[in-house]
Amino acid sequence: MQITKHKVASIHYTLTDNDGKILDSSVGREPLTYIQGIGNLIPGMENGLEGKSKGDKFNIKVSPEEGYGVKDEALTQNVPRSGFGNQDIKVGMQFQTEQGGVVTVSKVGLSDITVDANHPLAGVELNFDVEVLEIRGATEEELAHGHVHGPGGHHH
Ligand code: ZN
Repeated sequence: MQITKHKVASIHYTLTDNDGKILDSSVGREPLTYIQGIGNLIPGMENGLEGKSKGDKFNIKVSPEEGYGVKDEALTQNVPRSGFGNQDIKVGMQFQTEQGGVVTVSKVGLSDITVDANHPLAGVELNFDVEVLEIRGATEEELAHGHVHGPGGHHH
């Protein structure tokens, strides 16, 4: 069986940036279980997994366009330091916005703090080391819900 549209695949992955820094990994945790072809994963991952078989080990290189998007400079803004009260603000700190989004501090100035609402992985080329563990067909109920049920998925 191969990974094609509407198949459920379980994979282990390790995500690194181009400097080899590990950004995320499922190794040592539950494998990632998802439905192929319905947008559960970023497009670059789905494209790289298409047609693969159980036991396959390979690397997927994902461009920002097929990953978490390119950086949009319009999503950065300067906020007066006073807006943060007496907190000690450092680059890399994250804050929840009133709209429910997340911003990351990208620059700390004397009077202004620059915050960035881009996804933290926007503009980053991603390297996934992948191993395919299991492949099965999705049930009608899983397809109707748009997510996997049972091990590695939703329990309801
Ligand atoms: Zn469900």
